[in-house]
Amino acid sequence: MQLMDNYQRRFQYLRLSITEQCNFQCQYCLPNGYQPNKAHQFLTLNEIDNVVSTFAELGVHKIRLTGGEPSLRRDFVDILSLISAYPSINEIAMTTNGSRLLKNIHYWHQAGLNAINISIDSFSPHLFKLITGQDKLKELLQCVEKSLEVGIKKVKINTVLMKNMNDNLTDYLSWIKQRPVELRFIELMETGESGDIFNRHHVSGQSIELQLIEQGWLLQPKVALSGPAKVYTHCDYQGKIGLIMPYSKDFCKSCNRLRVSSIGQLHYCLFGDAAVDLRDLLQSSEQKQQLIERIFASLMIKPEKHLLHDHKVGVMPNLSYVGG
Ligand code: SAM
Ligand code: SF4
Repeated sequence: MQLMDNYQRRFQYLRLSITEQCNFQCQYCLPNGYQPNKAHQFLTLNEIDNVVSTFAELGVHKIRLTGGEPSLRRDFVDILSLISAYPSINEIAMTTNGSRLLKNIHYWHQAGLNAINISIDSFSPHLFKLITGQDKLKELLQCVEKSLEVGIKKVKINTVLMKNMNDNLTDYLSWIKQRPVELRFIELMETGESGDIFNRHHVSGQSIELQLIEQGWLLQPKVALSGPAKVYTHCDYQGKIGLIMPYSKDFCKSCNRLRVSSIGQLHYCLFGDAAVDLRDLLQSSEQKQQLIERIFASLMIKPEKHLLHDHKVGVMPNLSYVGG
């Protein structure tokens, strides 16, 4: 059994959000901080196990834990250990703001984490604080070194590109010269709550791409099932630059991921106008067959592409609901 939609896209990658809670106030995501929604009870360990077991059976071999801030879950190490018990899941990744990383990365790695994306929106302490509401740049740079030191196989940095704020490529290049880290520029995406900031700060990644090409960076050939990121390398640099450009032509053609939110809803598209509730079928492993049928039915309604160009942003108010 494999997960494939009506457009012959195959899905071996699941992004699993485990909480909406967050301790940062990123301007484009939670500018007023996390406001708890009492109706949202996050997935239990047992429900997470049923999600993982089912998707593993359906050919998923990479799981990224996200949120909100996934490391705020007290049972985060248990969640990693649970996923590690599935031998077919060979990549266990997380996206994190890094606030809990320094003290815990060793335990996370021991529990099976082998890939990490740390969000760092600027290498200027002032700008970093302005964007995230936190004075933690120095600590986050230590987080990158520490992740490499403990042996995390893939270490990436996520930087959300914002016009007139953090879109100066030269600020980043010297940093990756000696570090085997991929720095990913993500175009700012419009969400239900971020229309204003999107209008003020959205900039296409193309300007960065043109500068890279002018400076001799080469586009890495895509391998089968690699996602929508464009990755550039340069022989003088140990690090790489990735570009995620959701507003570019054909971005959705290489979509390779499905998402389950922290309240157990399957988002077949990050910007879809609906999500499919799986929760009633996550209570017992005996419901697996019904769960599989519902997942396949959801795939049949996965749209060919998002409608962000028409400002149709879908059901999600901000990315802390489903994870970026
Ligand atoms: N809290 C963790 C973090 O920030 O890394 C994980 C969740 S966060 C929603 C996942 C990623 O989505 C982060 O790299 C974040 O910068 C990015 N993100 C959030 N809102 C975004 C938006 N409107 N456009 C583009 N990227 C966004
Ligand atoms: Fe929190 Fe991540 Fe959203 Fe920033 S992007 S507010 S760290 S969930």
